[in-house]
Amino acid sequence: MNNKVSVISCNDYDRENIKEALEKLLEPFQGLSWINAGMKIAVKVNLVGAHKPEDAATPHPAVVCALTEMLVERGAEVVLGDSPGGLFSKAYLSNIYKATKMTDAVLCGASLNDDFSVIDVTNPNALQLKNFRITKYLTDADAVINLCKIKTHGLMAYTGACKNMYGAIPGMLKSEYHYRYSTHQSFADMLIDLCEYVRPQISIADAVVAMEGNGPSNGTPRKLGALIASENPHALDMAACHIIGLDFEKAPTVAAAIKRSLIPESIDKLDISGDIDSFKVDDFRLIKTREVKKWGTTNKFLSYMLERIFASYPKINHRKCIRCERCMRFCPAMAISIVNNKLRIDRKKCISCYCCQEFCPKGAVEVHRPITARILNS
Ligand code: SF4
Ligand code: SF4
Repeated sequence: MNNKVSVISCNDYDRENIKEALEKLLEPFQGLSWINAGMKIAVKVNLVGAHKPEDAATPHPAVVCALTEMLVERGAEVVLGDSPGGLFSKAYLSNIYKATKMTDAVLCGASLNDDFSVIDVTNPNALQLKNFRITKYLTDADAVINLCKIKTHGLMAYTGACKNMYGAIPGMLKSEYHYRYSTHQSFADMLIDLCEYVRPQISIADAVVAMEGNGPSNGTPRKLGALIASENPHALDMAACHIIGLDFEKAPTVAAAIKRSLIPESIDKLDISGDIDSFKVDDFRLIKTREVKKWGTTNKFLSYMLERIFASYPKINHRKCIRCERCMRFCPAMAISIVNNKLRIDRKKCISCYCCQEFCPKGAVEVHRPITARILNS
């Protein structure tokens, strides 16, 4: 278990400042000395959708460019890629590369992944997902670098290094996995299985400007002024949760990684380089995920009623909704329909995966917490 984490201050997206900060950030890991000329490096960037850099939904192009330059200087061939929700196709990704300004990195020497083939792989040590299908460009590389953004997440409370690896699953297959792993625990274990299989050489988080509130796509940018790195993605996530004030047990991937002894139980046991507490904020707007109180009842009707009264669920803000129907197309449970000219979510069918929230281009899907749940949790 490697518990080393590096955190460093970086206050803006000036390319030179970022590059200097990245070099210092990676010093505890001997920089990029593991890279030899000619190596093919896949940088798995969190490209959740066609969002502008200032939306803070995706790593800033200045970070991607600075990292690309560092890799190219060492003689590496750099491929940037991701498979966000939606189609894993050239047409779909081109739009996202353009909006997120990944195209800037091409000028720095990177290429944007245009291999849309997939491959079936096996993780014999997995807890949930032993055989799965992933994007082939990741397996073709000599090493993977995990470049994520620190954000809130409707389903998993938080997304950072481990969750970023979900983009290894090609396109619409992700919806199927959401359906198959519909509890926090099983979904978190599946993500860890995947992350452990891909095993990024290093994970780097852009938390210069993070996202709070209605993440991972439509939240509010929030400056944290930090870059974080670790060879252990779960240690990075633990450090990030500490910074944003999210209890580890409320971040399912972190809680599951602790359970699987991939990280220690407390932040004090991480080997942190940098003054992590100086980045800590106590008013980061966290997202309340679906929390169903355990009532110790096997009565189905009672469980259903308690869940309706207490559990958070996705709700459409009709003032923002433009009826593009993207959420309907991507809902794995087919829980969304049009009734009286308005989008409606059938809570009986909904599995609370929050794909609708992730795909909505207008931020019209919000996490709603019933007043009873708010009172109970307070
Ligand atoms: S994706 Fe958003 S804007 Fe489009 S129909 Fe659904 S809720 Fe409305
Ligand atoms: S309505 Fe939204 S949260 Fe519910 S299953 Fe469909 S996509 Fe997931």
